[in-house]
Amino acid sequence: MKTLKSYVGGRWHQATAGFSPLLNPATEEVIGQVSSQGVDFAAAVAYARETGGPALRALTFAQRGELLKAMSKVLRENRDELLALSRDNTGTTTPDGSFDIDGASGTLAYYSVLGRSLGDRPYLTPGDGVQLARSEAFWGQHVMVPLQGVAVHINAFNFPAWGFAEKAACALLAGMPLITKPASSTAMVAERAIELIVAAGVLPAGSFQLICGGTGDLLDQLGPQDVMAFTGSADTALRLRSRPALLAANTRFNVEADSLNAAVLGPEAGEGATWALFLKDVLREMTQKAGQKCTAVRRILVPRPDLDRVRAALAERLAAVVTGNPADPAVTMGPLPTAQQLADALGGVTRLRQSARLACGSGERVDGVGSPAGKGFFFAPTLLEVADAFAAGEVHRHEVFAPVATLVPYDGTAEQAAAIVGLGGGTLVTSAYSDDGGWLARFLAGAGATTGRLYVGSDGSAPEAPGTGMAMPQLLHGGPGRAGGGAELAGLAGLDLYLQKVALQGHRAVVNSLAGITS
Ligand code: NAP
Repeated sequence: MKTLKSYVGGRWHQATAGFSPLLNPATEEVIGQVSSQGVDFAAAVAYARETGGPALRALTFAQRGELLKAMSKVLRENRDELLALSRDNTGTTTPDGSFDIDGASGTLAYYSVLGRSLGDRPYLTPGDGVQLARSEAFWGQHVMVPLQGVAVHINAFNFPAWGFAEKAACALLAGMPLITKPASSTAMVAERAIELIVAAGVLPAGSFQLICGGTGDLLDQLGPQDVMAFTGSADTALRLRSRPALLAANTRFNVEADSLNAAVLGPEAGEGATWALFLKDVLREMTQKAGQKCTAVRRILVPRPDLDRVRAALAERLAAVVTGNPADPAVTMGPLPTAQQLADALGGVTRLRQSARLACGSGERVDGVGSPAGKGFFFAPTLLEVADAFAAGEVHRHEVFAPVATLVPYDGTAEQAAAIVGLGGGTLVTSAYSDDGGWLARFLAGAGATTGRLYVGSDGSAPEAPGTGMAMPQLLHGGPGRAGGGAELAGLAGLDLYLQKVALQGHRAVVNSLAGITS
């Protein structure tokens, strides 16, 4: 049995009490334990601010990019070990685990290339300079300067590798040290990945610390130069972001929360590539990582005349999913990672069934292939259906974090589809499947304000579209309203959270020299 450690103050700390057990969710066997008892959080914050920050800020963007490249290489070189840990502690099949682990190394690699392209310039300079008086004697230019505190990263259980890596890539490239905390129940992957990175000796002292277990009084230490970036449920986000110390200090707080993502089939979808892509994407988003992705599809909007054929096509495909222990090669969908997640999913389906009926699947726990009977947190892939989108209550309010989605009929107009999507209160991603440019333009005009990303599936995109669940580092990850209102990734914009924008004013030559603008 493995006891997870925290990495604080430049050394590994192992607690001696206060442990929570870590389980293999396919067998319920205890495989580890986690506790942060004894960690001196104030000392960790001071170490980051006083040692990690100055060390990172002394590096150029290119040098920080080299750190990210080295981190990415460590993850790639140890991919097999991390995949096995993900299987055992998170219940992922190999493709599901690689979505997390390769996503982590890929995002670090992407930001390392950005760092290299920025070279040794001192600052990011968004936008062009502007003349503020009759001549260049008074000129203005925005520059982005690293904050001098620590970034605290708290992550959700479902992406133990990508979760820490995508946040770390932006903070480190911006020049800000961090303390990262994976969700306790699935922390084995993050702990081992960070242990390997620390052992590789690629990071400056104080730039990267890890908390496995609770955060104690960590958040109470944060002030105006610090950053909190949280990923998890909306309820936890609300509790954490309303802490008086954080509010009083106006500590930056970025939230990536849950989201009732919608996939919308346009009218006249026919039976060609767009239709096939819609079915493929919805199936993948319902079942990949057992539906435990913040970007998974929860609501499937279908023109009323297409409802029967969509239900039949999805039911056929869901019936072919093999739920079970990912150690068995026949299995295509693993368990939920914890007993609590299983209980929440069961309760969530009960809530949805106040207004929805079962269309296929039982909405219940099932035994898993390759696991002992009665053991494992397996959930049947389940499709629900409502008769009236505007009387669907909980379907637009409650995220069931499991292989569960609800069919929602609509009248085929872009306007009504957008209005129904908006009932979810803000999504990370909305997808629309249509080859009708006019319909898509009206849908964007109506639904754009309520989503962080609009993925358009069409004849043209079908051959290469990766599915709606993939957050890509080049583009925004985050959505309005209940999705948290946060913004991550989006290329260089992902660094903004860790930088102070300074409006630099003075003679043009002086301003340009300070900003590092040479031409
Ligand atoms: P959660 O229960 O809200 O926990 C998220 C994180 O917060 C965990 O690391 C948890 O640590 C920590 N936490 C909880 N209470 C805390 C406290 N009082 N002080 C400090 N930290 C605290 O969420 P989850 O169950 O892990 O994740 C599932 C949710 O995350 C879903 O709703 C999903 O949609 C959302 N999610 C969103 C995104 C996105 O990018 N938008 C990505 C992934 C997941 P412990 O584990 O130690 O309690």
